Amino acid sequence: MKSDKQLIDETGIRSDGRKPDELRNVIIKAGVLHRADGSCYLEWGGNKVIAAVYGPREAIPRHSQNSLRAIVNARYNMAAFSVDDRKRPGPDRRSREISKVISEALEKVILTDYYPRAAIDVNIEVLNAEAGTRCAGLTAAGVALADAGIPLKDIPVACAAGKIGATEEDGTFTGGHVVLDLGKEEDNFGNADLPIAIAPRTNEILLLQMDGHLSSDEFERALDYAIKGCHDISKLQKEALLKKYNVSEGDE
Ligand code: UDP
Repeated sequence: MKSDKQLIDETGIRSDGRKPDELRNVIIKAGVLHRADGSCYLEWGGNKVIAAVYGPREAIPRHSQNSLRAIVNARYNMAAFSVDDRKRPGPDRRSREISKVISEALEKVILTDYYPRAAIDVNIEVLNAEAGTRCAGLTAAGVALADAGIPLKDIPVACAAGKIGATEEDGTFTGGHVVLDLGKEEDNFGNADLPIAIAPRTNEILLLQMDGHLSSDEFERALDYAIKGCHDISKLQKEALLKKYNVSEGDE
C-alpha cells in the first residue's frame, strides 16, 4: 500500500469531492429479512451489505459448546458479483480473517454469559464492494444483533481512516494527508488504511487493523478521525432501529 498518486488537491478536496473529515453517504435499514431473528441492510458509499443474525440457539456440534457462555460465529462473505473481477465463490484467507476479527469484536459487546452452550450466528453478505466492507459489515451486524433483541453492552460500530497522497503547489509530493473513510481509489492508491470498531458509549476499541505506514502523530490523528466517524455512524444505527420499531427520538 504505497503510492505517490495525488488523491487530494492543495485546497484539501479529495478526488471524489469530499473534505478530509467527510464520510461517504450511509443508509441503514433494520429488520429487512423476515426469516432471520435480526437483520440489517446497509449502504456505505458504493458498498452494499446485508447482515442476518440467527440465535441464540443450541450450539451444534456439542463439542463446540462453551458451558459458560454463547459462542459468536460471524461469517463474512463477498458475493462473486460484488467486485469488478468476478470473485471466486467461497471462503478464502481474507474472508476467514475478516470473519475472525469481526467475531472477536462482537463477542466483546454481546452478554454471552446469558446463554451458556448457545451459538449466535452472524452472516454478513457483501453484495457490492467498494472499499471498507469490513467496517460496513460490522456496522450492519451491530444493528442486526440489536434487532434480534440480543442483550448488548453497546451497539458496535466501525469506521476507517487512512492516509492519501498529495502534492504541494510546486508539484513536490508530500507525505500525504490523513483522511476519514477511504473510497475505492484511495484504498487502492493510498498510503495507509486504519479500520477500527468501537463500543461508542465508552470508546472501547473492539477492532483495530492497519495496512500501510503511519507515523505515531498521523496514527493519533487517524484514530481521532475514525472514532468521530464511528460516532456519526452510530447515530444512524440508532435511527434505523428506532424507525423500525416506530419509536420517535423523544420516546426512547
Ligand atoms: N476487493 C476486491 N476483490 C477481493 C477483495 C477485495 O476487489 O477479492 C476490493 C473491494 O472493493 C474491497 C477493497 O478491495 O472493499 C478493499 O479490501 P480490503 O481487504 O482492504 O477490505 P475492506 O476495505 O473491504 O474492509
